[in-house]
Amino acid sequence: MAPSAARTANQRIVIENCAIATVDANDTEYASGHLVIADNRIESVGAGKAPEGLENVVRRIDATGHLVTPGLINTHHHFYQWITRGLATDHNLFNWLVALYPTWARIDEQMGYAAAQGSLGMMARGGVTTAMDHHYVYPKDSGDLSGAIIKAASEMGVRFTLARGSMDRSEKDGGLPPDFAVETLEGALAATEETVRKHHDASFDAMTQVAVAPCSPFSVSTELLKQGAELARRLGVRLHTHGSETVEEEQFCKELFGMGPTDYFESTGWLGEDVWMAHCVHMNDSDIEAFARTRTGVAHCPSSNARLAAGIARVPDMLKAGVPVGLGVDGTASNESGELHTELRNALLINRLNPVHREAALNARQALRLGTYGGAQVLGRASQIGSLEAGKLADLVLWKLDTLAHASIADPVTALVFGAAAPVTASFVNGKQIVADNRLLTVDEDAIARSTRDEAQRLARIAAQG
Ligand SMILES: [Zn+2]
Repeated sequence: MAPSAARTANQRIVIENCAIATVDANDTEYASGHLVIADNRIESVGAGKAPEGLENVVRRIDATGHLVTPGLINTHHHFYQWITRGLATDHNLFNWLVALYPTWARIDEQMGYAAAQGSLGMMARGGVTTAMDHHYVYPKDSGDLSGAIIKAASEMGVRFTLARGSMDRSEKDGGLPPDFAVETLEGALAATEETVRKHHDASFDAMTQVAVAPCSPFSVSTELLKQGAELARRLGVRLHTHGSETVEEEQFCKELFGMGPTDYFESTGWLGEDVWMAHCVHMNDSDIEAFARTRTGVAHCPSSNARLAAGIARVPDMLKAGVPVGLGVDGTASNESGELHTELRNALLINRLNPVHREAALNARQALRLGTYGGAQVLGRASQIGSLEAGKLADLVLWKLDTLAHASIADPVTALVFGAAAPVTASFVNGKQIVADNRLLTVDEDAIARSTRDEAQRLARIAAQG
């Protein structure tokens, strides 16, 4: 399928003869339907052929054999880890972090840019239309890492949230990271504010947003959490961090603060409808109730939790309680595949493995909702993306389900979630096509593969020199 030509105002793209899963509030689906894109918005979606007599149709796509869904939304990632994949493969979280911090503390702008391209490219090829990067490693004299990451997303045409992370609690203050890997409290806050002011776009169709994102209770001071929350609310942006990932983190919080992670977050201003947190594996009933009461969101990262032996988040209980839940790849040093489809499938399968559930804990449609509308909710963009509805932004994917991999499964949503990763025939972001036949259209994928290999080797060399 050819890429879309440059379009002017009020030009339409018609997609028809496909199954459609809208993921709207009623889970409306069409066995054979149509969808019309006008500029960067969805103009209509419904059963059967597109309405006759539409003007300015620049492209008509016969999507026979396809399922059309909202684009996948990734809600937790660390792009820089693309160039440290496949290391410390048999460690739990704390040991893995301690093994990798010294290498990560050597990254520079050029490495950050290549790693962001790699992370974004792998996700976009697999149907992700909105990505996020929780970046918290800012070594001295490493250049403009935030700017490089945002540039990579913007060149690829992926909708993007940069969660500007930070760490200021190092070993000398009882934290986990080495002293040379952290910023000062004042430095982290000032740089975060500057990043928000420079890059955050609050408009309906924003392609770039910024969130305030101190890294975790064991790498950040209480003061940075408190002042970070105040900063985010003063600037009107969202808050993101890691929470309740492992038993070791729970012990750390109890020893240092005399309470578990959720109570600690509440005491520092970190529960609220403008907050989303990665993992939330070790949550008791009252923690889940606190998240539901405050509408705090969760980025569920099942593959990373499995890779680091962290445990199984209680996603079915969270959904029942009304907690907004999205999916996250997490950094690719703890999830080497880097694809979000894997998380749809693993969310479904891993939650069924939790011994507290006697029957299907999640079904295919719930998994698809986690990866689309749920992601939009936790990023604060549910009115704009995450479902296929007239007036929303045209972020959508055409999954090819009539090949050997899926053709014998009758239900398209079951095929997509239970089956192998489906080929992406086309992916649109903001009405523009960025993927055709599983290849990125906006950037040179092979050049990115080479530069990520080169930068991974350069980082390994520098780290080995100590
Ligand atoms: Zn993470």
